[in-house]
Amino acid sequence: MIDLINYLIKYAEKLGIGCLWFDGSPDNEPYSRLTLTNSKEIVMNINWKHAKAIPFEIGHLIGHLEHNDKHKDETLLKIERDKNEENAELYSVGLISGYVLKNKIEFNSYKDLFCYYGIPLRLLKCY
Ligand SMILES: [Zn+2]
Repeated sequence: MIDLINYLIKYAEKLGIGCLWFDGSPDNEPYSRLTLTNSKEIVMNINWKHAKAIPFEIGHLIGHLEHNDKHKDETLLKIERDKNEENAELYSVGLISGYVLKNKIEFNSYKDLFCYYGIPLRLLKCY
């Protein structure tokens, strides 16, 4: 899992996205942001209660930054917010699938891959 996290962080860095880690409570959600100097950052909680999904969440937040939208943007209509969330999720699945292919990691099914990397199974409908 750490190799995938490093892969995603390097991928983000190539896009000019920094990744910071903070020592928060397990309930503190990771998030992405634009800094005061307009640089893009992902802020990950090292103690997040969904540890298995940390790579998926990094990819998800990269997706939001690349699409120039925000995670769970409350200023949008629900239908727009849901579309942004799904696009960010699919972006993350694409990144993780790319990592799996490049490293010739084999799974018996997409379901096995999704379970292994903590990817929500509801996204299987897209594959
Ligand atoms: Zn999101």
